[in-house]
Amino acid sequence: MNNLDKERAWVEINLASLEENVRNIQKSIPTSTKIMAIVKADAYGHGAIEVSKHLNKIGVYDFAVATLEEGIVLRENKIKGTILVLGYISLPNLRLAVEHDLTITAVDKEYAHRILHMPLKKKLKVHLKINTGMNRLGISYDDIDFIKEIYKKQEIDVVGMYSHFCVADSKEAEDIAFSHLQQTRFDTLIKNLKESGYNVGKTHLQSSYGILNYNENREYSYVRPGNILYGVDSSKKVYKKTNLPLKSMLSLKARITSVKEIESGETISYGRTYKTIEKEKIATVSIGYADGYPRELSNKGVKVVVNNQYAEVIGRICMDQLMINVTNIPEIKVGDIVTLIGNIPEITAEEVAEKAGTITNELLCCLGPRLHRVYISKREEI
Ligand SMILES: *Cc1c(COP(=O)(O)O)cnc(C)c1O
Repeated sequence: MNNLDKERAWVEINLASLEENVRNIQKSIPTSTKIMAIVKADAYGHGAIEVSKHLNKIGVYDFAVATLEEGIVLRENKIKGTILVLGYISLPNLRLAVEHDLTITAVDKEYAHRILHMPLKKKLKVHLKINTGMNRLGISYDDIDFIKEIYKKQEIDVVGMYSHFCVADSKEAEDIAFSHLQQTRFDTLIKNLKESGYNVGKTHLQSSYGILNYNENREYSYVRPGNILYGVDSSKKVYKKTNLPLKSMLSLKARITSVKEIESGETISYGRTYKTIEKEKIATVSIGYADGYPRELSNKGVKVVVNNQYAEVIGRICMDQLMINVTNIPEIKVGDIVTLIGNIPEITAEEVAEKAGTITNELLCCLGPRLHRVYISKREEI
């Protein structure tokens, strides 16, 4: 830790909780199925390098990232195992994927056609993305002749195929039926290929809510947890058929930089949107929307913790600072730590995200580069 780490605003990441989450996910899946850790978007704000290093240390050797560059950064930091790039890679840069031993995704039929004609020194490792109904990426699940043709090609190494749920977190009957339909489409394709003698390689379908809600008799090669790996739900409203004892591992902290008494009838911050109704004690905190604490949280009654007590964020959140009402908190002083997301007393990422009108994923992955990441591996709450 360097002495700037906790100077202003930072996130604390508990790697012991990551390990517990991994063990609990492993217990809930078949022994033949492995975790492919989703570490895209800097591991949902938790820091992809440190998280992946720790995962290597505890025996996880399969990763997925969204972009070519994310994959290269992991390799440059000596992450071992397989790294699948889930997103599109432009054809001229495929050579970089080969150089860094990254597995690429054939994102659709046209792309699959085009990569066959890439002049590369080594064979490209490819997973086929199968579109079973999300209609974002993928080769259509019923384009069986084409899928067989691709598997047969000597020019590329098709080492697996996967699909993705689009409503696995919903409890609406119609959505549950749709998820079952997606799964049936994927399973039927696998069965068809196997019966025709193809080695389909690795198969995978379930992200977090697929793991929790569509887990009966499922023996795919991998599951792809993102949210639940980090011990968070994408929102408070998600449907979970099975509940795993998962632990959030991230705290967001900053410091008190100024404390003052403000007379009744004064206003606080830009736009004068908050007016004191009595003499109030107001503290300024060293974090703002440039750090990824959403400006949308201005005047929403969102809470923070200081000296073990809750305080409310008031007035407009500024780029680098915000104000809180600490009228009822005695002995507050400059330098005190303010917890904006954390476990004791609890302020969950889910509730902060909800107040900001978004999901946990967006809140966490937007926590900015100005925040230092401080890693702890103690089995204690933060
Ligand atoms: C982001 C992503 C995941 C992880 O999703 P969670 O809901 O966070 O578990 C899995 N698979 C794909 C293809 C993704 O893009």
